[in-house]
Amino acid sequence: MRAMIVEASKSLSVLLNQHLSELHFVTEVHTSGTLALSSIKSKDNIPVDLICVGLILTDMDGLSFTEKLMSLDVKDFDPHTRILLFTPEAERHEARALTLGVQGVYSASEIDLALDHLNTWSQNQRLERHEGNILVIEGKHSLDAKTTLSDYGYTLECVQFGIDGLAKLRGKEYELVIIHDRADIGMPSLELVQNIRNRKQHPLKLPILVVTDDIDESKNLKLIQSGANDFVLNRPASRECLARANSLVRNKILYDQVRFKYEKLHKIAMTDHLTGLYNRHYLFEMAPQKLAEARRHKFSVSLLIADLDKFKAINDNHGHDVGDKVLSAIGYLLKNTCREEDVVGRFGGEEFIIVLPYCDIHQAYEKANQIRLKVFELNPVGISISASFGVASFDAYDKSNFADLFKRADEAVFWAKDRGRNRVEVNSLA
Ligand code: GH3
Ligand code: MG
Ligand code: MG
Repeated sequence: MRAMIVEASKSLSVLLNQHLSELHFVTEVHTSGTLALSSIKSKDNIPVDLICVGLILTDMDGLSFTEKLMSLDVKDFDPHTRILLFTPEAERHEARALTLGVQGVYSASEIDLALDHLNTWSQNQRLERHEGNILVIEGKHSLDAKTTLSDYGYTLECVQFGIDGLAKLRGKEYELVIIHDRADIGMPSLELVQNIRNRKQHPLKLPILVVTDDIDESKNLKLIQSGANDFVLNRPASRECLARANSLVRNKILYDQVRFKYEKLHKIAMTDHLTGLYNRHYLFEMAPQKLAEARRHKFSVSLLIADLDKFKAINDNHGHDVGDKVLSAIGYLLKNTCREEDVVGRFGGEEFIIVLPYCDIHQAYEKANQIRLKVFELNPVGISISASFGVASFDAYDKSNFADLFKRADEAVFWAKDRGRNRVEVNSLA
């Protein structure tokens, strides 16, 4: 499918471009409305399925652009094309945009909603249009059903050998792989099926259809048992092959939809809404796994607990809303002070936890002190704050579990409070 991004803001167009490419759109980006309109009108272009337009363009605004778009001749532009408008003032522009034919209006803070809209819509489009990339591993002789499949709308990529098929699968996502069960694909079909199923990423996700030249029931049964989804006889203009391919592609697209929704819900369930950090639930699920990994691969893991000092007084003196702003600012600071592999979470009201893999007790102490100073210098919403830190570490030979480590770090926080706050205390095993 083809998408056009007409938007002057680089950050938004980069984000949309990346997301749409992941959804297999062919994209083009314009900052000028006039150039975008002429690209739509140009005769060689395939029709545009989606236009994401920003309010501010270099030569006109997004609403005038949409108006001009809708007044184009139907031979140049299908007025049913999906158009989304991105504007800083979604509420103000929504009514007018909808009258012009825009299907969704989003502000900068609603980008997630817009991406969601794009996912659902594009997957439904693919289902309706029978869109999908099919990889065909066919040997020397062209598969008979190829014309039927491509006439129907599928995009086929064909390779002769199984080994080339496996290489293609590493670089791109397909909706279906068809294996022509012949000796000249260079490896037994059974081995090829097993190889595809042994891949690390979502090993069961990609459907496999085996096309055979003769029916050998026990052989075909073995193929199914080792991971092929279906098999069919190779015949010219095979409607049966098409029907089976359709059903497998459809399942794959539905699987993608479910997986996408699951991943989104999982992320929501694991995230603390106020700070965007991981929540208690995730921390207590993930941390024991990190410890097991450290034990196996013999590296140290440290745990920092930070508890904001006298936070109740901030709420009491400035209000709960201000307290919330302080908490988000701290969350942002912690996230930006830690490495990608560190796990930063908020596990209670004004208590934060950081799991630091590959970090011994000395390094953890240094890290905690560095964060302590940053918190002290932060002054979020003009309020001076500090935090007390407890540090505990696990080295590969230590027998403690996560609950022990947590208890030790928590005890150290208590000492830090007791010894005057705004300080780091270490609870080492020795
Ligand atoms: P200490 O230095 O001993 O840690 O004192 P403290 O006031 O920070 O500790 P205490 O446990 O007495 O109070 C924690 C406060 O954190 C009380 C609670 O109102 C506040 N709090 C917890 N969750 C939230 C939240 O989500 N938002 C806001 N604004 N405040 C919260
Ligand atoms: Mg506390
Ligand atoms: Mg506190």
